[in-house]
Amino acid sequence: MKITVFEKKDKMLKFVIEDIDNSLMNSLRRIATVGVPTMAIEYVDFTKNSSVLYDEIIAHRLGLIPLTTDLKGYKLPSECKCKGKGCAVCQVKFTLNAKGPKIVYSGDLKSKDPKIKPVYDNIPIVKLLEGQELKFNATAVLGLGKEHSKWTTGLMIYYNYPKVVGGKKASELKEPKNAKEIGEFLNKVKKFENLDEIKTEPVMNKFVVEFETWGQLDHKTILLNAISSLSKRLKAVDKALK
Ligand SMILES: [Zn+2]
Repeated sequence: MKITVFEKKDKMLKFVIEDIDNSLMNSLRRIATVGVPTMAIEYVDFTKNSSVLYDEIIAHRLGLIPLTTDLKGYKLPSECKCKGKGCAVCQVKFTLNAKGPKIVYSGDLKSKDPKIKPVYDNIPIVKLLEGQELKFNATAVLGLGKEHSKWTTGLMIYYNYPKVVGGKKASELKEPKNAKEIGEFLNKVKKFENLDEIKTEPVMNKFVVEFETWGQLDHKTILLNAISSLSKRLKAVDKALK
């Protein structure tokens, strides 16, 4: 298998992957996005809420705030020694205490563990008017995107690598020789294809992959965890078959 990374930013990774079939590519996509644990707020205890939003709506909004995740320090509640009752190894506590007039942001959440905090400080939660108050304790746990989308790691899309097979602009498109040229080549293919100036065919077993994370974990951690999770599952199938 050959992998060529042609774009790498803080939260975006783009690469070409060769010698992989559709089913394995899709397994990798699914496991990387919904099978690697991330932290998200799961329980909220409101002690005061005189804002215009119901407790349930605020709790839902809190759940969707991406939190930086430490996979070495925490366990999934189902795999924890406390058997999911809740302890320092499977839970992180947050508090918030705000008085209006102000807009309450994700950055106002106070975490008991400095390693686990909102990825972005500027996500609005609710607007408080003069005299309105919001006070709660919240609990974040590790979870999987297959249970709830708030635990997804990001969005991964892929499509077959295009092979130019004809059209009046075909001669302008040369097969890229290195990683630097791939991005430009793919942009031109898209543009010329939309204008009906070239014809392409999908290359089987070769894909362009774009992976954007929500920031809880970096690309490397997500992909390494996805691969080890996938091979664990395949070993279990192998064992069962034997
Ligand atoms: Zn526990």
